[in-house]
Formats: sequence, C-alpha cells, structure tokens
Amino acid sequence: MRNGCNRLSLCGKLPDAVEELTMRHSLACFTLALALCSVGTRGQSNSPAAAPLTIIRAGTLIDGVSETPKKNQLIFVRGDHIERVTEGSGATPAGAKVIDLSGATVLPGLIDSHTHIFLWGEDPAKGGYDANILKAGIALRAARATYAARRALEQGFTTLRDVETEGAGYGDVEIKQAIEEGTIPGPRLFCATRAISTTGGYNLEGYAPELEMPKGAQLVDGPVEARKAARQQLEHGADWIKVYMTHRSWVDKQGNLVSQPTLTVEELKAVVDEAHGWQKKVACHAYNGIGLQRALDGGCDSIEHGLEITDAQIAQMQRQGTWYCPTISAYYGDWAPADTPAGKRDRARAAVHEIGFKKALQAHLKIVFGTDIGGIPWTEPMAQEFQQMVKLGMAPMDAIQSATSRAAEMLDMKGEIGVIAPGAYAEVIAVSGDPLKDVGELEHVRFVMHNGSVFKSEIAK
Ligand SMILES: [Zn+2]
Repeated sequence: MRNGCNRLSLCGKLPDAVEELTMRHSLACFTLALALCSVGTRGQSNSPAAAPLTIIRAGTLIDGVSETPKKNQLIFVRGDHIERVTEGSGATPAGAKVIDLSGATVLPGLIDSHTHIFLWGEDPAKGGYDANILKAGIALRAARATYAARRALEQGFTTLRDVETEGAGYGDVEIKQAIEEGTIPGPRLFCATRAISTTGGYNLEGYAPELEMPKGAQLVDGPVEARKAARQQLEHGADWIKVYMTHRSWVDKQGNLVSQPTLTVEELKAVVDEAHGWQKKVACHAYNGIGLQRALDGGCDSIEHGLEITDAQIAQMQRQGTWYCPTISAYYGDWAPADTPAGKRDRARAAVHEIGFKKALQAHLKIVFGTDIGGIPWTEPMAQEFQQMVKLGMAPMDAIQSATSRAAEMLDMKGEIGVIAPGAYAEVIAVSGDPLKDVGELEHVRFVMHNGSVFKSEIAK
C-alpha cells in the first residue's frame, strides 16, 4: 500500500473510511488493523501459518470442478482454508489431526442459490403464505430463520443465496451477522433483503381495500422509486437485489399459462443500473411471457424459475450471460384439485417448466441449483432438487456442479467456495454412497465442515 501500512492486508478489505484514515496516520492504522483482524477471526479472515493442520482422507473426491472423481485423496486444511490436495499415498505430517473419510464420497459444501430462511412453508391448512406475516411476530420469525440456517448447514449446504425475507425487512442481514460472529450456526449467506415489486405485484392481497396491508416485498412505481428502493436495500446490506418481474399466474381460455408482468423495462433498468454500480447483481423472479422478456431486456443477472423460456429467450440469455435458477421441486408439491383454476395452473406450470428446463439443458445455459425452500417447508430435504434435475435429464455431475463451482461463479466466489482446491475455504461434506450412481445420496449428508470447523460428523473415523 502507498502509505506503507501493509499489515492491513492481513484482514483483506477495509472500509474506505479506514483506508483514508490510514493515509494520514500509519501507526494508528496498524493498531486499528490488528484490532479489526482480531474481531474478524471467527468469521473469514485468512488463517495464520501457525493454525493447526487437519487432514481429511477422502475415499472418493468429487472436487466440484473436475468431470471425474478421484480416488484416495488427502485434503490439507489449515485454519479455515484448504492448503493443498494430494494423493492418498503421501505421508501425513506428525501432529496433524486426521479425519478418516476413506469409506465415503467427499464433496465441496453445497450452494443453494434460491432460499427463503424467513419463510415457514405455505401450507393452506396452516394459513398459507399470509400466516408468515400476519401470525408471526419478528422474534418468532427470527427464531424460525435461525432454525432454517441450522437445517441448511446440517444438510451440507454451506452457502445460501437467500432471495428475500418476505416481509421480515432486513432480518436476513442480521441473521448473517449472528452467523458471522459465531452466535448461531449457519451457512455463508448472500442476502437480498426485502425484494422489489410493484403495486398489485405482491402479497398480502385479497383483503378489504380499506385496509393498509403489509407486503412481502418493497413495492415501487416508476424508475425513481425503483432506484430508491434499490439504494435503500443496498445501503442496509443487500448482497443481491431480488425483483419480482411476474406475479399472479393462471391458465387462459386457450390453455396457455399466463403470468402478470410487474415492473416495466425502465423500472428494472433503474434497479439494475443502481445495483451494478455497487458491483451487485439482480435476480429476477419471472415465469414467462411479457414479464420474463422485460427481465431480460432490463439486463437482469439471473432468472429465477423461468418456467416457460422460449428459444429466443434462451438465445438472449446466452448472449447476455444470464444465469438460470429453475427451482423445479417447488412446482411439484401441493397441487390444488385438477378441476379448479388453481389446479389447472399448478399442472400447467409443471408441464411447461419441464419443457423449458430440458431446452435450457440442451442449450448449455448456465444452470444453478435452487430449491425455493421456505416456500417448501424447512423440514423437507433440500437435496430433493437434485433428483428432480436428474429426472429431467441432467447428468448427476452436472447437477452437483450447479450446486458447487457454477453457483460459486455466479456469486463471484470462484475458487473460494464450491470447490475442493488449494486456497478455497474449507467447506467439505461427505456422503456414504456414490451420488453419481444415486444422486439421492445427497439427501443424506453425514459429514459437514464449514470454514474449517467440523459441524457434523456421523461417519468420520
Ligand atoms: Zn423464491
């Protein structure tokens, strides 16, 4: 650094204000840097060379990037990082702790790119979506989010892109803080905070028009309000911005699935322009039709659900480098009776989604794994989405990469998460069987290491 205070690099990036201060007082900055580093060590600071060494003996290693698994590997973990990976025949230094997973398949910690830790299912018998907001106070919601974070980690998901709190404000940013300071266990979180839609574009709705109902997203009208909402969310810690580009859906007289568009292209462009200026990305919930087209024309970075993507839209996504997060499982549960409008819609959604997903696969779109868990109860296995992807024609290794290295790239964490390689965070999981033969194995994760600490160990010897 220009001021010669290179100790600062110990803890990576510091806020601009701190950097400014250091230019004037290099001695003060040294002390401050040390103080900040000591606060940050539980979270994600670089590990000092003196940190103890742990060696994981992997019977089979699926590293998240390679197309074929490797047998009998040693993963050297120092502090919260992976130091190196070697053949299993190599010597293990005396004094190192050895975790024996020689009978297991070892993988990188999984990444779910579409979750809602603040949603508690939408079972109509339990009040549906609305009960999340109308019946639960913020403390209950935080307690449930705490449970959800733990559930995800137990299942081997060491990173979540959590795409909005459904009326719980900036609660996700605070849950993330609680995880980072070590107060509660949980995965690495990328938070979208409140999400954005338009008037008439989000729940709660269907109540007397005289009532001012709370909404599950921040509603905006016009590019000025849209930009302001993005600024507010970014100010309060959003890592991503989530936008609802379609809302209601139904089947029309011709039997086609229709979804109601929400933001205009101008409104979305204001959000995207603002977010990109902060070097953040925009995830767009979009089913099909006008809303999906506006999402692409407005420059969104990832399409969520994308139930009915046309060939032209797939080509546009390829040109623009747009990510596709299909969340298939969410459209297979809780169908309304077949002869009702809702039942027809539920079946139409699944039918077009299957076609869209297969087209996306064929076109090699950048597909990332996402469950929409929270919409699905947190008691259900998150890894069920792997089975759905494979059932619709995705190769198991491809499905695994959609939840590891590919998702890491979308999150601008390439080489840091979603991979077992030198320099990556030590996010390591294991299953007893072979997930390439039966991807359902991933529903039974038996070992979880997160940031170098063992969180769950049922099979390690
Ligand atoms: Zn969702």
